[in-house]
Amino acid sequence: MKILVANIGSTSLKWRLFDCSDSAERLLHKGGFERVTDYPKAIEDCLAELKAANAIANESELAAVGFKTVIAKDVTGCVRLDEKVLAAMEAYKGLAPAHNPPYITGIRLFAQRMPSVSLVGLFETAFYQFAPEAMMRYAVPDSWHAAGIRRWSFHGASHKFMAERSAELLGREDVATRARQLYIDGGKSPINGKPFRVISCHLGGSSSITGILNGAAIGSSMGMSPQSGLPQNNRVGDLDAEALPYAVKTLGISVEEAQRQLSKESGLKGLSGVSNDIREIQTAAAAGNAKAKLAIDVYVASARHWIGSYFLELNGADAIVFTAGIGENRAELRAAICGNLENIGIILDAEKNNAACATEAVISAPESRVKVLVIPTNEELVVARETKRLLQNSGN
Ligand code: ADP
Repeated sequence: MKILVANIGSTSLKWRLFDCSDSAERLLHKGGFERVTDYPKAIEDCLAELKAANAIANESELAAVGFKTVIAKDVTGCVRLDEKVLAAMEAYKGLAPAHNPPYITGIRLFAQRMPSVSLVGLFETAFYQFAPEAMMRYAVPDSWHAAGIRRWSFHGASHKFMAERSAELLGREDVATRARQLYIDGGKSPINGKPFRVISCHLGGSSSITGILNGAAIGSSMGMSPQSGLPQNNRVGDLDAEALPYAVKTLGISVEEAQRQLSKESGLKGLSGVSNDIREIQTAAAAGNAKAKLAIDVYVASARHWIGSYFLELNGADAIVFTAGIGENRAELRAAICGNLENIGIILDAEKNNAACATEAVISAPESRVKVLVIPTNEELVVARETKRLLQNSGN
């Protein structure tokens, strides 16, 4: 069973093709295009590359195309992408303006190009379906809540992969099984030992931190939209609700302009004035740029704030896991985030931390009560697995 996972950006198309015929999924091909101006052609070129690489002979060989869709009104989980679901994504496009519109357009183009292939979406909100209501609710009137103003939380595929893989690596196969079964039984499969508590740090161009108990999310730093939680590359992250109307009045700008500045000129870019890329910010900070140093300090403080929040909620942690561009590659950031925490049982091994770059590794010291891990994320594999399950459960 071959499943293509397509990652759609406003000007990019990336893909991974998996053979999911048995339980040991195999990656058959991966590729992508940046600066795409003609999307139908990009899809055509993707299929041509898959054929040229002998990964497929024909698109009818694809059991499905899976997408890591973000958010839709009243829809989550892993679903077939019919017009009803696309309309639900359309209804919430304001919450994910960088993601929902290109996905809706891209999915329609895939549907036109290969009408007989199933198109399936695993929503990024899916991992939070079973989180306690108290962790997901804003203290707003009922009418606001009913209108969808609540925490939805994102990066679900990545955090779910962390839930499964951290349990596997730390010898908790019972919890790994529970995490794998989550979307079938809502996290009801039994575990054998003590509760298994993980704080998953997806730190990249956009960042979020999720608390995970026994394979299921209990809450996450991102709220109603991805415009929340930690400072993002050029998005503000958490901001007091009064700040927007105050800025509009005080700075004499429109709401739309304020939103633009908060989503394009804020975050690490706005703070540093240098770049939205942490590598360039670190270089500038090392050369003495005070704003660049402040940007890193704000980012680290925010990460520690959220880790602390879940550490308390989970009554400690068995593991803290780092993933995504910054989490997998930036040892200095991991060291700053985990610094000075020996009193709560978190001690890094400096050498192991410095050596860990985009590979699975335990980077905590042997005496650290909390294991600290680096795990490269594999969101596409999570999408492929859930897509396969949907096809099997619906009999094709
Ligand atoms: P996105 O959220 O857009 O998928 P990534 O997970 O790729 O982003 O993370 C982007 C961030 O990670 C950037 O700030 C970049 O500096 C950092 N990063 C990505 N890859 C590397 C790398 N190989 N080495 C160092 N830093 C990296």
